[in-house]
Formats: sequence, C-alpha cells, structure tokens
Amino acid sequence: MKNYRNLSVMAAAMTMLAASGQSVTSPDGRLAVTVGVADGVPVYEVTYDGAAMLEKSPLGFVSNEGDFSRGMQLTNSKTGSVSKNYTQDKIKKSAVSYKANTLTTTFANAEGGKMSVEWQVADNDIAFRYLIPAQGKNGDTRSMIVEKETTGFRFPESTTVFMTPQSDPMIGWKRTKPSYEEYYITDAPLGTPSQYGQGFTFPALMKVGDNGWVLLTETGVDGYYCASHLSDATNGVYTIAYPMAGENNGNGTPSPGIALPGKTPWRTVTVGKTLGPVVETTAPWNVVEPLYTTAEPARPGKGTWSWLLWQDGSINAADQRTFIDLAEAMGYQNVLIDNWWDNNIGREGMKDLIGYARSKGVNVILWYSSSGHWNDIEQSPVNHMDRPIVRKKEMAWLRDIGVKAIKVDFFGGDKQETMRLYEDILSDAADYGLDVIFHGCTLPRGWERMYPNYVGSEAVLASENLVFGQEFCDMEAFHATLHPFIRNAAAIMEYGGSVLNKHFSRNNTDGTVRRTGDGFQLATAVLFQNPVQNFALAPNNLTDAPADAIAFMKEVPTTWDDVKYLDGYPGRYAVIARRHGDTWYIAGVNALNEPLKLTLDLSALGLGGNTATMWADRKGKELKAEQIKIKNPAAVKIVIEPAGGAVIKAE
Ligand code: CA
Repeated sequence: MKNYRNLSVMAAAMTMLAASGQSVTSPDGRLAVTVGVADGVPVYEVTYDGAAMLEKSPLGFVSNEGDFSRGMQLTNSKTGSVSKNYTQDKIKKSAVSYKANTLTTTFANAEGGKMSVEWQVADNDIAFRYLIPAQGKNGDTRSMIVEKETTGFRFPESTTVFMTPQSDPMIGWKRTKPSYEEYYITDAPLGTPSQYGQGFTFPALMKVGDNGWVLLTETGVDGYYCASHLSDATNGVYTIAYPMAGENNGNGTPSPGIALPGKTPWRTVTVGKTLGPVVETTAPWNVVEPLYTTAEPARPGKGTWSWLLWQDGSINAADQRTFIDLAEAMGYQNVLIDNWWDNNIGREGMKDLIGYARSKGVNVILWYSSSGHWNDIEQSPVNHMDRPIVRKKEMAWLRDIGVKAIKVDFFGGDKQETMRLYEDILSDAADYGLDVIFHGCTLPRGWERMYPNYVGSEAVLASENLVFGQEFCDMEAFHATLHPFIRNAAAIMEYGGSVLNKHFSRNNTDGTVRRTGDGFQLATAVLFQNPVQNFALAPNNLTDAPADAIAFMKEVPTTWDDVKYLDGYPGRYAVIARRHGDTWYIAGVNALNEPLKLTLDLSALGLGGNTATMWADRKGKELKAEQIKIKNPAAVKIVIEPAGGAVIKAE
C-alpha cells in the first residue's frame, strides 16, 4: 500500500527544489541534476527525460573541522563545460570523446566553513565530488579528517537492485576479506538488507521501474583517500560508507585524512533507458588522468595459468615448463606462476625457468602475497610487497631476471592505508618495468587510466570458485550474465576463465563438474574484459577440446576498440559486441532453463560483409565453427542453449 500523503509531500518538495535549486543538464538535454538545500541539508535530484531517477538525496560530510551535512546554505554556483579526447587500450573503448556540462555548488555552514560539490553531467553519466578549501578564520587549517559522509542515493519506490554485499572484515580464507568476492542479489526490492549488515560494494546496479537503469560506482580513489561502499538503506537512502574499523586486523583508520585544499574521489551515476549506457559507459575513466608515465606501455596479452586446474601441486619446474609449452602452442604471451614458487622452485630455479620461457617467447608473471600484518597468509612469497625497502630490492631482482609482470594477492580492505599500498606497489613496479595484477582485492576505481602499468583486478567471485565448489559451477551461467552489466561495466575484471576441461581437476575426471558449454566458455573470453587474460586452459585441451574451440582461443583478442550492448537482463542472459580493429565479436550467454531465441539488431555495428563465423553450443554436438550469412543485419536470429553460449565474428 503506497502512502499517497507522503508521496504528495515529496512531490511538492521536489518541485520546490527544482524551482529554488541550481540545475545542470547533459549536452543532449536529457539528463538533469538539480542541487539545492532542504531544511539546511544540501540535496540533489536526478531526472532522465523528465522521469525521476534519484529523488531528493542528501549531500555533505562530517569532519573534525566541522559539520558540513546540516545547517548549510547554498552560497554560490558556477556553470561551465568540459570536453576531452583520450586513448586507452586497456578498457572497453580505445578512443573516448568526453563532453559534459559542469556545475560547482558552494555551501557554507553556520560557522562559516565552506565546501563545494563539483558536478560533471555528460549524456548518460554524472560524476560528482567534494572540493574542500582550507578551513579556519584565516584559512590556516590545512588538514582534515573526514569522519563520515552523508552523501546518499534515494531511488524511486519502484526500483529493484542488483548488488553484492560488503563482507565482514577478517573473515574467510586466512582472514583476508573483504575482497569483493560475494554473491549478488538481483532484482531485489529497494532496501533489501545486506547479507552481513555491512552494506554493499560498488558498483551497484538499479532498475528504476520502467524508467531505466542506474549504475553507481566510484573513481579517482588513490592514496589520498579510502575506498567507500554503500550502507544498507535507511529510510530508502543508500549512503556512502567508509571502511569498517576491523579491516586490516583493526590497523589503520576508517576515516580518510586529507590535506586542504583537498577533494574526495568522484562518485559516478550512469543513467540510461536501456542497459546500453551501462555496458558502454566510460564514466570511471573520463574524470581521471594518468598519475605518472612509464618507460614502456603496459603489455596486454593472453596467458596460461596452471594453478586454476592443477592447483598448488603444479608449482614445480616440470609442470611450469608444461604450461610454458602450452602458452607457446597457443601463441600466448604469458605464463602465470602462482603461489609457493619461491619455496617449490626456488630463486635459482626460477632463473632457469624464466630463461626457458623466454626461449619460447613467453613472459613469466609471478605471484606475490601483499602481506603484511593484516592477514594470516602463509602462501609465499610473503612480506615482499608491504614495505618499500624490501619491495624495491625484490623488484630489482625481478627486473634483472627478466620478469615483466606480477600478480599481488590478498589485500586487507579499503582503508586509506591500503589504497596507499596499492599505489605504492604500482608506482614502484613502474620504476622496475613491471605490470601489476591484483587478486583478493578491492574494485579498481579509475586505475586503468591513473596507473599506466596496472593491468587487472579480480574483485569478483572468479574462476577459482569453480574448483572450490559445485554450487558455484551450477551458478556459473547466472554469474556470467551479471558481470557485463555490473562488475565489468565499471572496471576491468581479471577472471581467469575460459575452461575447456569438463572437470575442474588435473586428470579431468575428478573434481567439480562444468555445467556450461564450450561455446559459453568462448563467449566469456569476449564478455569478460581485461587486457591481460590468464585463461584456465589445460595441456590436455590441445587434444581433448574441440579443435575449433582451441583455434578460437588462439585468436581471440584481449584489447578492444569499442563495445555495444545488444540484449540481455542481468541474471538471465547477456549479449554484447566488442570490436577489435574492423572485426566485431558478438558474444552471448544464457542462464535460463530454456533455449533462448533472439533476433539481434546488429545494424549499429556497420558490418561490411554478409558472411560471418559463429561458434555456438548445439545440444549433444561438438562445438564447430560455422559459416553463416547475415542477410539483414537488423534482424539476425540466434539460439543460445541453456548454460550455453555463442560468439559471432563478423567484419
Ligand atoms: Ca580470489
């Protein structure tokens, strides 16, 4: 039962805000933000084509230099515009043209303390952050602890949410959480409580009734701030929440300390009638800049990874040679050697192994633990990445033996001190010519652009869970239909997938059972976007997997020039197209129990020819590359089997 009295009061309040507040609209005029003050609280609202996407939502924060969340007055505002073009080969688009209208709204509290909110409104993306000037009578207060934010997101009542919870701190494997490896709730009513009572992590996707979709995330987080998440909803409002006190075994503070004048990270709100703007958004990268340069560009590429299927027992010289040989056979650039290499192969042994890899044209990516005093990880090497003296010595050794990239695992959470650790590792690695992948980690927030040698993060329930439990195998298709619209829409995602074994084990007989088709596995190589892909292929796949699947895994790119949403619904199915050069890869997966019959409109892809190649799961048949004719690009019929997938390659 709706409360009509409250609704009419709210509608009246919104009208007042629209009348008295400051507005900024997107260049195409469809997306609008209005900012004002209601009962002393700074507030904003968002409409798209006139429909409310965010109702009157609070702004502000509480600091050790005053309360900027109430008793506020809007004292000034300024409009403008920004436009820029940039190139970025690690994300979903290689060349981005960004245009936004801007608004800066300045507020003052009763004590005369000031803060501004800076807004950028592009056609489908809003970015906003706080600008905080020096405080005090003479501007002599030059530092501040931001104790909490009251920044909130109030969605219309008809909204349903697609979100993943923040975990409790210091739980899970070796007390390493939170690590953004939790299940999702999908199409859940607004205000559904989080699993742990700790709220939800970014990104979060909302379906605003029939009016469209909203993706919330955060970007521009570096060592000057903590990473934040969303609280559980209170009175219908999700509020920006800071890290939990217990993260990092209680070390470090949840509240960020900033120098003044200072600024917070950007929070972004992507809005669309369809899921297109969500899949295609570049909001996390539009408002950040590279923080340093490197001597050489990052090295995108494909690799083999023994650990996923063969686990810890494969970290020995003989098995690693087998996976180096597999990388060579596949034409891959990399081999990822996971935990215990220093113990099981030894540092002298590694020199030989790296020499062997280099003789095959294969680069070695080496695993490290981030730890540290913040968890119980014993998987070695430990304590080589947590302090600059040890870290730089280690990185010099890596450079000298010819290692080009590292994977650093098991971080402690989202506190500012952990953001500094990420940044310090990236910055030092850049000095030694190393690219960096993070696992057991936070969501990257604009890092693809900010840190030139950053090439991937896990921050998802990734492929390892297929080995750990059958339940995850049973849910594999369901999860794959979420990531293009949520996790991977906001950041690159190092999933370690594309498994062609039937069983998740070394002998391909024991262990958990794969429920998805080979075509599904090929499709995820396109759906899951990360510039460095460490695929979970096994040496036996060269002979026991369909030859056409292996041929596809040899050729599939890991860098992309463009992306288009074609169809889908998170939790049910997903079909997107990615372009590499002149070639489009159209990939779809189906999590429904019935075959999915779709008519795809490919007219936006500008296909030149009328023949294409398709790899699609067919019930009871081995995967084969099929030549198909595309007579009418506006109506291409495909069928995707349950837990199956399809890829169409067309020019
Ligand atoms: Ca993990």
